[in-house]
Amino acid sequence: MSDGPERRMSTRPGEGSAADLQALLARRLDQVESLGRVAHALAGVEDADSTMQLVATEGMRVFGAERAAVFLFDRVKTTSRCMVSIGLSARYLEAVSRHFVDLPSARAVLNGVPYFSSDAAADPVSPVTEQIRLEGFVGVAGLPLVFAGEAIGSLAFYHDNARVYAADERRLAMAFADQAALAIGKSRLLDQVSRIKREWQSAFDSTMNGLAIVSSSGVIVRANRLVAEMGGVPVTALPGLDLRALFTSWPERDPFREVVDTGQRVSVYLEGLGGQHLVLTLTPHPDGDLVVSIDDLTELRRLEERFSRVVQTAHEAILITSPAGRVISANRATLDLFGSASGPIVGRMLAELIAEESGVRPDAGSARRYAATIRRKDAGASELRHVTVSSAPLDEGGTARGEVAILRDVTEERLAATALLRSEARYRALFDKAPIAIFTLDPDGHFQSVNRAALGIVGLAEPEAGLSLQTFLLPAEVMAVRREIAASFEGETREFIFHFRRADGAVREAAAVSVPVEELGGARSIIAIARDVTDEAELRLQLSRSEKMAALGQLISGVAHELNNPLAGISALAQALLFDPEVDESTGKILQTVRSEAMRAARIVSDLLTFARQRPLLRAEMDLNAVVREAFAAAPSLGEEFIWDLDLESGLPRIIADEGQVRQVVSNLLTNAAQAMTGDDTASGRRGIVRTWSNAEYIGFEVMDSGTGIAPEAMPRIFEPFFTTKHVGAGTGLGLSISHSIVRAHGGEVHAQNRPQGGARFWFELPRDSTRILRGIDG
Ligand code: ADP
Repeated sequence: MSDGPERRMSTRPGEGSAADLQALLARRLDQVESLGRVAHALAGVEDADSTMQLVATEGMRVFGAERAAVFLFDRVKTTSRCMVSIGLSARYLEAVSRHFVDLPSARAVLNGVPYFSSDAAADPVSPVTEQIRLEGFVGVAGLPLVFAGEAIGSLAFYHDNARVYAADERRLAMAFADQAALAIGKSRLLDQVSRIKREWQSAFDSTMNGLAIVSSSGVIVRANRLVAEMGGVPVTALPGLDLRALFTSWPERDPFREVVDTGQRVSVYLEGLGGQHLVLTLTPHPDGDLVVSIDDLTELRRLEERFSRVVQTAHEAILITSPAGRVISANRATLDLFGSASGPIVGRMLAELIAEESGVRPDAGSARRYAATIRRKDAGASELRHVTVSSAPLDEGGTARGEVAILRDVTEERLAATALLRSEARYRALFDKAPIAIFTLDPDGHFQSVNRAALGIVGLAEPEAGLSLQTFLLPAEVMAVRREIAASFEGETREFIFHFRRADGAVREAAAVSVPVEELGGARSIIAIARDVTDEAELRLQLSRSEKMAALGQLISGVAHELNNPLAGISALAQALLFDPEVDESTGKILQTVRSEAMRAARIVSDLLTFARQRPLLRAEMDLNAVVREAFAAAPSLGEEFIWDLDLESGLPRIIADEGQVRQVVSNLLTNAAQAMTGDDTASGRRGIVRTWSNAEYIGFEVMDSGTGIAPEAMPRIFEPFFTTKHVGAGTGLGLSISHSIVRAHGGEVHAQNRPQGGARFWFELPRDSTRILRGIDG
C-alpha cells in the first residue's frame, strides 16, 4: 500500500518545535550534501557494476535504509534482474524475480512512478507478503531509474521500521534516483562501447588479411597483427610508421594520392619485405584517413605455380579451350602427342584436332570421356594415334570459361590389348582344335579346362563337372602321377608316361608334358599336354622286330646264297657217283644219304630264303580248297597217321595270290598240327579239323589239332624266327615266321589260339584280291 500523507512527521511549519525543525533542516542539508557527493562520485565511476554498487550503498546511507537493491529490467519489461543487493536473502530475491510483473512496486516503477510504503507486508495485492514478513523489513521505497525517457530499472531501499518518506524527502529520493539512473545508463553505455571496441579490436587483429588505418600521407594510425608481422615489428610500434616502409618498392604513381584525388578505392600489387606477393586495397574513409587491407597471395601463387608445374610436366596432353572451342593453352605433352610437325596447337579448334570416335560417356556434370584418333606428325612421318579424351567445362562463378581436355595416348595399350586378344584367340583355336589332349589342372588335380581331344582320348563326349585326373588313372600309378603334377606346381616342366582307363574300360598308355603356368595374382596352375601312345608303343615294338628281321634276313640270304651252290654241287656229284658202276653197294648207300641230306639242307636254305623274303609274290588265280587237298596229297604221312575232318567251303571263291607260297603256309600249319599230335596214341588225341571259309572280302583257312597246345610263355614268341620248342633236327623255328611273312605279304593275318578243350587252333585269312590291298612290311 502506498502511503497517503505522512502522519508521524509533519512538514507543515509550526507543528513541531524549533529544535525539531532545526534537526530536520540539518538532516535535509546532510541529505542534499550527500546527494551532491554521490553525484560527484558517480561521475568518476566508469563501469556499470561499480556505479550500481555505489548508488545502493550511498542511497542506504542518505535515506537511512538497512537494505537496498538495484534491479534492471529487460527490454520488454517482463522480467527484472537484481544487479546489486545488500542485506537481502537469495530466497526473497528469487520470489521478487518470479512475481515481478505482479508486484505493486514493480507496476509503479515500470511506469516511472515511485512507490513508497511504510508497511510493505500490509499491501493486500502483493504476492510476496509472506516473503516480506520472513525477510523482516517493513518500510520500502521503490524508485524508478529513468534514463533517456525510459524506465530501465529500479532502486529499492528497505527499512526495518515503518519508515515514512516526507514529501520533500520523496522529491529528494526521486532526484537521487534520477542521478543514479543517469550514472548507471551512462556507465552501461560505456560498457557497451568498450565491449564493441574490444570486439572490433579482436576482429581487427584476427582477420586473415592485414588491416591498417593510415593517414592520407601514408602514416599508420593503427594496424593489426598481420601488418606488424609483415613489417617484422611489434603491433605497438606500428602507429607513426610509414606504410610504404613495409614494401620493397612503391609504385611511382602513388596510390595514396590517387585515392585522395579520386575518392575511389584503389588496388595495387606489391612485394613484401619477406618476398610475399601482396595486394593492397586502399579505401577512402570519411574522416580523411584511408583504410588499407593487405591480402597475402603468396600461398596462392605457390599453389598456382605448383599446379602449373603439374600441368606442364604431366604425361597427358592438357588443353584449355575457349567457350567457342578454340585452344587457348596447351602443355608440353600436347606437342609431344601431336608431333613437332603439327604446327602451333594454340589457336586451333579442338574439334579439328581430335575427331570423336566412340564411347562418348558423360561423367559427372557435363564432363565427358571418349575415345578418339589423332594424326601425329613428325619430320616426314605421320601416324594415327589412339587417345582417350576426358573433358570438363571450366566454370568460374557459374560462368562458362571454356573447357579443359586431357588427352591420353593409349595406342600402345590398344596394340597390346589387340595382341593379347589375338594371342588368346590363337591359343583358344589351338586348344580347341589341336589333335592332342590339352588340359589345365588345379593343385588338387581337378580339371580347370579340357579340350575336345582330351575328352576324345578318355572317350567322353562332353566335359563332366568335378572330374579330376585321378578319375582316369590306374590306382597303382596315382602316386607317381601326383608327384609329377606336384613338381610342376613347384615350377618344373615334367615329362612322364602313365596309363589311364578310358570311359569304355580300355586301358591305354599316354605320354604327357606338364608345364607350370603363372597366373595373374601369383596363383599357379598347370597346363598339360598328353598323347595316347598305346598304338605307337605297339608300332615301336613291331618296328624293332621288323628291324631285327631285316638284319636277320640280310644275314640269312647272304649265307643261303653262299650255301646254295656248294649244296647243288654236292648233290649233283653224289648223283653222278651213284651212276658210277664202280661204286659198291655200301658206298652207294652212303652216297644216297649224302645226296638226301644235301637236298634237305637245300630245302632249309630255300626256307631261309623264303623267310628272308627273297622270293617275290607270283600272283595268279588260285583255289584254296585245291591247295589244301594237294598239301595232304604231298604229305601222305599226314593222312596215314592222323584223322582229319575236312570242312572245306563248297564253291569257295578263287583268289589272286602266290599259290606256291600259300601252299607252303598251309603245309607248315598242317605239319605243326601233326607234330603237336605226335606222341598221343589215343584216337581222340590224333584227330584234327581243317576248315575253309569266305566272306565278301576274305577267304580263310584254319586247322585245329588235339595236341599239347601252346605253352603260355611260348605264345608271344611263336611267330619269332628261330623260336622253336622242338628238339634239334625236328624244328628250325622258321615255319610260323615264314607263314606270317607270306600271309602278311598278301595283306592277310595269321592267328594262334589254344582251344578250350585242349590243342591249338591256327588260322589265317587272305584278301580275295591281294593286289588291291596295300600293306607295308610285315612285323
Ligand atoms: P618249328 O615247327 O620248326 O618249331 P614253327 O615256327 O613252325 O617252328 O613253330 C614254332 C613253335 O610254335 C613250335 O616249336 C611250337 O612250340 C609252336 N607250335 C607251332 N604249331 C603248334 C601247334 N599246332 N601246337 C602246339 N605248338 C605249336
